[in-house]
Amino acid sequence: MLVVQKYGGTSVGTTERIRAVADRVAQTTRAGHACVVVVSAMGHSTDALVQLAEELVEHRDAREMDQLLATGEQVSASLLAMRLLELGFKAKSLTGWQAGIQTEPIHGNARVSSIDTNTLQQLIADGVIPVVTGFQGIANGQVTTLGRGGSDTSAVALAAALKADLCEIYTDVDGIYTTDPRVVPEAVKLADISYDEMLELANLGAQVLHPRAVENAKHFEVPLVVRSSFSEKDGTNVVTMTENRMEGRRVVTGIAFERQVARIAVIGVPVQEHGLAVIFSELAAHGVNVDVIVQSVVDEAAVDVSFTVNEADVSRAVSVVSELQETLGFKKIESESKLAKVSIVGAGMISNPGVAAQMFVTLRDAGIPIHMVSTSEIKVSCVVRAGDVEPAVQALHKTFVEADTTAPLTKSR
Ligand code: ADP
Ligand code: ASP
Ligand code: MG
Repeated sequence: MLVVQKYGGTSVGTTERIRAVADRVAQTTRAGHACVVVVSAMGHSTDALVQLAEELVEHRDAREMDQLLATGEQVSASLLAMRLLELGFKAKSLTGWQAGIQTEPIHGNARVSSIDTNTLQQLIADGVIPVVTGFQGIANGQVTTLGRGGSDTSAVALAAALKADLCEIYTDVDGIYTTDPRVVPEAVKLADISYDEMLELANLGAQVLHPRAVENAKHFEVPLVVRSSFSEKDGTNVVTMTENRMEGRRVVTGIAFERQVARIAVIGVPVQEHGLAVIFSELAAHGVNVDVIVQSVVDEAAVDVSFTVNEADVSRAVSVVSELQETLGFKKIESESKLAKVSIVGAGMISNPGVAAQMFVTLRDAGIPIHMVSTSEIKVSCVVRAGDVEPAVQALHKTFVEADTTAPLTKSR
């Protein structure tokens, strides 16, 4: 069997942890499997590198940031390879470009465009364990990175390109839980979850998997499991559909949240100007990511438009939209920071019309005001005050998970 194993920052956070990871890789190899390892940077070292740049300069050049951040993974990969060599295995660390990972020519958040697997395949054939730096690739000779948390995506992309039998994501929790167990200690580990539900959770802020890792795993049908590098417990399988739970399944599979949300409101946009098209085209052209959008009709002539952006983008978004005031003739622009978004996700929601109502009732009973709402077939999101995130997630978990006994969630082991 060919296995791609990815180890996250905490899992390689100290030399002691790297020893433990080497032992696990050794165990897999001794069991007769070919293993390709992908590593993140040690502990919080990527954050430390970002901080150095922030201390030094006002404007961080995108190319140089990628050069800088890509070094973190090189440290853990070479240390792990060294330890494997000492244990008597053949091993070799490879940077993203040495492993053949090509990306789009974009800095900071590049997508993997193709992988030339020749080098890796040769190493595997020679019985060498490749230890690949996660989170990075190359485009036109330039080092690129895949976005924060992107090592998961490196691992899945390699597993897809190598047609691996399994991609294992080793992290600091036992698997995927009904919500972040750091916020809700009562969160329950899921035995399995569908790609679609996991993709929603990841996109809505559940940090446990990088959204593009899930997207690629779904697209290329990569068998994916999330488990702990600290224990031998079963993890969570990410699968096409959970047949055994088709009926009698829970309505809500998981709860996710995102902090650092801000709301911008453009008041009194004249209808005849097609304000929406202009405002959002301009924001997109300036690279501002817009999330929840709500438009309300004030009267026949005007609408109010509210939307959310990441807090880091507020001033840029406000200045982009302010530039349009004269052309569009809207009344004013307002912004509100220190917000957050909490979301409930579940494929079972499609046929359950009362779910949104139950969410609003739960938040009302917890005394939490809702600022905005957005829905899709399998999720409902509410924008709330930043300070309300944890009580909101806890209350929703009580309503939708702890009080719901329709279906067992986990194999306890
Ligand atoms: P790694 O460094 O291994 O990539 P991350 O910190 O990126 O680890 O992701 C693991 C963390 O994700 C956990 O420690 C947990 O706090 C958080 N998390 C958020 N939502 C969930 C969830 N639904 N299930 C499990 N962990 C979650
Ligand atoms: N080291 C990178 C980060 O901290 C990538 C990763 O850990 O997945 O974002
Ligand atoms: Mg991660």
